Amino acid sequence: MPEGDTIYRAARALQRALGGKLVTGFETALAPLARVNDDTPIAGRTIEKVESRGKWLLIHFSGDLILVTHMLMSGSWHIYRAGERWRMGRNRMRAVIRTADWEAVAFNVPVAEFHTARSLERYTQIPKLGPDVLSEGFTVEGGARRLADYAAANPRAEVAVVLLNQRVMAGLGNVYKSEVAFSAGVNPFRAMSTLTPPEMEQMAEFAQRYMQANILDGSGDGIVTYFGNRRTTGNSNRDDRLWVYGRQGQECRRCGATIMMRKQGEQARSTYWCPSCQPWISPSPDATPAPVGRTGVVRRGKVGC
Ligand SMILES: [Zn+2]
Repeated sequence: MPEGDTIYRAARALQRALGGKLVTGFETALAPLARVNDDTPIAGRTIEKVESRGKWLLIHFSGDLILVTHMLMSGSWHIYRAGERWRMGRNRMRAVIRTADWEAVAFNVPVAEFHTARSLERYTQIPKLGPDVLSEGFTVEGGARRLADYAAANPRAEVAVVLLNQRVMAGLGNVYKSEVAFSAGVNPFRAMSTLTPPEMEQMAEFAQRYMQANILDGSGDGIVTYFGNRRTTGNSNRDDRLWVYGRQGQECRRCGATIMMRKQGEQARSTYWCPSCQPWISPSPDATPAPVGRTGVVRRGKVGC
């Protein structure tokens, strides 16, 4: 099942290919979508924006029309160069958006609907996305406030799980989650209730800084690359790019302690941390012991999510 940050990346890739482009063709195998397309054609509209909200993907067309899809278990969006051979059968195609250069194809999406801004507003199943750490309007104060508000409502939520929650702040994936917590000196398993305002500010600041640094590192033209040289240490050497992510069993670059890894949250995502630079603080007076992780060295040099 695709996770929120996978959909987020899909939205980014679609935005990169389709954003600002004119739709030259639209095709669908779904009757309700075809009906809307017959009445108010998609071709001729501009793709204003592609965004994710949790596991929903939203494609905004000019003229107040939004295509909303949910992948559930089986759905996916593919992007092909015009004329390129699809990697899935036509019988699985549910919708195709064509531009001069690209074809975006939705395969097997079980939920696909057109909305207007107004009907979308009323459609409460779609979560509101938190502020995007890469947006111009994002501020450290604003990010810290989101974290503080979330902490007030969810005091027991664990820090690294919250950093991945796209409804709190949008943008961080599994790699940066660990890197941001390390840089802020915050143990990723701490409860949100134990965070101080300066710690929240630090996390918002590093979230923004790392994401921005990695856009610039990418292709140099403002395009986000997710499989490129993600780095947070300022060192571009392949083995020295990250503070803790993927480094279980190795020495902390700051203090020499052994980096740990532990699966965290409902989705059991890998979390990496330095138990010395990121001290544990119990959320309750009964002194809950610090979480312990694995330190066995795994395949080196593999960086993924
Ligand atoms: Zn350390």
